[in-house]
Amino acid sequence: MSAPSILSGPLPPGSTIGILGGGQLGRMLALAAARLGFKTHIYSDETESCAFNVARARTRACYDDEQALGTFAAACDLVTFEFENVPDRTAHYLADRVPVAPEPRALSIAQDRFLEKSFIAGLGIATATFRNVASQTDAAEAFRALGGPAVLKTRTLGYNGKGQRIVRSTEEAARAYAEHQGVPAILEKFVDFAFEASIVAARGRDGSFLAYDPPKNEHENHILRRSTVPAPLSGAVADEAVGIARRIAEALDYVGVLGVELFIGRNGEIAVNEIAPRVHNSGHWTIEACVVSQFEQHIRAVAGWPLGDARRHSDAVMQNIIGAEVEDWLALAHAPEAGLHIYGKRVVRPGRKMGHITRLSSRSP
Ligand code: AMP
Repeated sequence: MSAPSILSGPLPPGSTIGILGGGQLGRMLALAAARLGFKTHIYSDETESCAFNVARARTRACYDDEQALGTFAAACDLVTFEFENVPDRTAHYLADRVPVAPEPRALSIAQDRFLEKSFIAGLGIATATFRNVASQTDAAEAFRALGGPAVLKTRTLGYNGKGQRIVRSTEEAARAYAEHQGVPAILEKFVDFAFEASIVAARGRDGSFLAYDPPKNEHENHILRRSTVPAPLSGAVADEAVGIARRIAEALDYVGVLGVELFIGRNGEIAVNEIAPRVHNSGHWTIEACVVSQFEQHIRAVAGWPLGDARRHSDAVMQNIIGAEVEDWLALAHAPEAGLHIYGKRVVRPGRKMGHITRLSSRSP
């Protein structure tokens, strides 16, 4: 089948945008798409996807169900993703039938930590030093080469700290590899950073690029707890971070919104932790604090529209509402100068992102 992978022009309002993945990112993308006059069709393998509630059409099927994927592709004018662990075959199957953005290649790179770090390092951008690990011997040797402490991470399917362990000796490195059931991994040196930050940026089909102001990100139990803008970064470091995101986006010929997670050292040195080829949790504050949010920006980019104004008019603190905290929704609804988002997930589980709240204040000079 020929690949109709290029849109013939900007996608007009009234068209249908397919979104693979049915979580809160898909939900907020669908809401932003609706504002621009698009219909959305959510494809998810989970029955209780919270994005289903805000979209015009839904498909509940596995990501390898070619019949369901074919019907989905035929019903959409364009397909995008809300998570990076879409199987390669799925992305390519769709890309043969309907324009897909971002390019499936960005997903393949981002879902394998070894490919991802090699790609970033290949652009001359700093990361934690790392080694590929395919055996217990590799794990021990990598630890000896890097020195400790180090972090053993599975190459694939790791997020929010899943599939990773800090190790402090060659024996511990070898044991951690065995405990991961011997799945391919990387060992990377533990970075003694001052804080974490991120760049949420967008690249349009015409190559135009823009970035939101970088937030400082705080994690608890490996889950993002809070993003604060502005981050305590000098203008020069912030510019360097934006430049890094731009090089990554251009090297991938990326179309859409991209998150780049950063470690910031005590002297402002930057190391990239990972790339998220999608809208990013650390960009949720853009809904209230910017003219055009990261969600609308992504829809504009993939639909071939001009990118919107990413300027920030307020300072903001975005806090995730995790697990049973959502039961305090009424108290949260009383917060002044705050935007409250409840994702409508039926089942509350510890560590599950149930919503977020963004508190605004006047923009600091
Ligand atoms: P990841 O799943 O790679 O995004 O890692 C989740 C979190 O673990 C990061 O946001 C950091 O807080 C921490 N982390 C991951 N890798 C390292 C590292 N090499 N050094 C220090 N902390 C790390």
